[in-house]
Amino acid sequence: MSKLKGDEEHSRATRRPLRLGLTGPRVLFCVGLLVALCMLGVCATILYQARVDALNRARETSSNLALLAERDIERNFELYDLSMQAVVEGLRDPEVRGSSAHLQRLALFDRAATARYLAAMLVIDASGRIILDAANDTPRSGNFADRPYFTVHRDNPDVGLYVSDPYHSRLRDAAPSIALSRRISNPDGSFAGIVVIAVDLGYFRTLLGGLSLGPHGAISLIGRDGIMIMRQPYDAKIIGRDISQASTFRRFRAAPEGSFPETASIDGVRRLYAFRNFPNLPLIVMVAEAENDIYAAWRARAIRIGSVMAVFGAAFVAVSFLLGVQQRNRIRAEAELKMLARTDGLTGLHNRRTLGEILEQEWRRARRSHRAFSLLFIDIDCFKSYNDTYGHQAGDDTLAVVARCISSNIRRPGDNAARYGGEEFVVVLPDTDEAGAITMAESIRRQISDLGIAHAASPFGHVTASVGAACVQADSGNDVDAVVRAADRALYNAKHAGRNRVAVFSEETETPA
Ligand code: GH3
Ligand code: MG
Ligand code: MG
Repeated sequence: MSKLKGDEEHSRATRRPLRLGLTGPRVLFCVGLLVALCMLGVCATILYQARVDALNRARETSSNLALLAERDIERNFELYDLSMQAVVEGLRDPEVRGSSAHLQRLALFDRAATARYLAAMLVIDASGRIILDAANDTPRSGNFADRPYFTVHRDNPDVGLYVSDPYHSRLRDAAPSIALSRRISNPDGSFAGIVVIAVDLGYFRTLLGGLSLGPHGAISLIGRDGIMIMRQPYDAKIIGRDISQASTFRRFRAAPEGSFPETASIDGVRRLYAFRNFPNLPLIVMVAEAENDIYAAWRARAIRIGSVMAVFGAAFVAVSFLLGVQQRNRIRAEAELKMLARTDGLTGLHNRRTLGEILEQEWRRARRSHRAFSLLFIDIDCFKSYNDTYGHQAGDDTLAVVARCISSNIRRPGDNAARYGGEEFVVVLPDTDEAGAITMAESIRRQISDLGIAHAASPFGHVTASVGAACVQADSGNDVDAVVRAADRALYNAKHAGRNRVAVFSEETETPA
């Protein structure tokens, strides 16, 4: 059945522009495109994963930096606090209290007082005056009764270790510092003064400044009350600023530690913030790395790999396309060759071999469906003398014109015209009864005659043709050769009856039309 269908297609192909099955090349191109898209998809997934990894790595690094800063500060402050506690306890000893300022200094202040960033270590009495100075036997003069690190202990005996906000030192040329202080109480519990350590903010600046966070990164030490103690990159104006209302700061206070991305309102830069609240001190350390810096290396690599993949994918699609075009051309060439092998070169009609196949198929089909089957045999009259008169070339041209005329009458899908040989043509008319066949035959005959091709040697004066028609009911009792023979016989009758006419052969009678 499929073969029949294929041949039907083919027979139409001889009368219409060549149509090709383009499915193959198209499939090749689409498969190429699909493979390229899949490769790009895999590449995009890997790059996306690398981006996520870069973010995770940055989060981990920032958290580790925050942890390191916290541990360093806590360890130092713990040592300072131990020194202050030693002073508080030493002052309870009446022997120490009664000794000279020099001996008191030696007894109360250990070597921690000489640490690099420990700017001052003082004992201040209940009126705010310095009574002992770790730096000198003769205490520097000054009153600090107004300082928060003093008043907080005066007003509240249970503060313990107090860490102040940044302030400008009165003793050291307004050097920015923070103070750690502890209360000194009399034996009856009343306020006797404080011991205080001033820490130079240079300590934090050096500590945080040594940590690298990319060109747009920042690391800050903030008091739990929202006062900025130190920030890298350093800006003196920011120290002491209250950021307690900033949304980022509120998030720092919400959990002991964590990380989150946010766009800074100050510079519009989106950063990944990692923070830690000190467990034993009222301090918060914050490490922020700009997303641009986090993804810088990834972006450069993604652009490189992405470009290579895009070029590779495009090349792959282009090669697929070219292969598709090549395949299409090959199919076209093969189809043309096939068509040429089945076509008569002079007239463009089916050749004898193809006619044989068509007859076989159409006959089988007609037999299955018990339909009428008609066949026309067309022979140009007196064509030998036409050649003799006008030459062989003119004869060829006329054959082609007549063939076109016959072909123009073929309109139904099952109808086919073929050159039988010489100046003889066959028209196959499946599913056509005798009346239909006669109509068709008469139409072809008349149209050939109407062409008006001069033929001086013909009794009609122009080129004419005789047509023999045969119509049979296809069944197992007869075969297609019998139909051909019948049409040939009818043609003989038409010639015999005077040419330029149609004769029909039927199974019962043999009647000239
Ligand atoms: P009739 O009316 O009885 O058919 O006479 P006729 O001359 O047409 O028939 P005949 O069979 O005697 O001659 C057929 C001629 O057709 C012979 C040949 O010169 C010519 N012929 C056959 N094939 C070709 C061809 O391919 N080209 C040309 N130019 N002439 C052909
Ligand atoms: Mg002939
Ligand atoms: Mg002839």
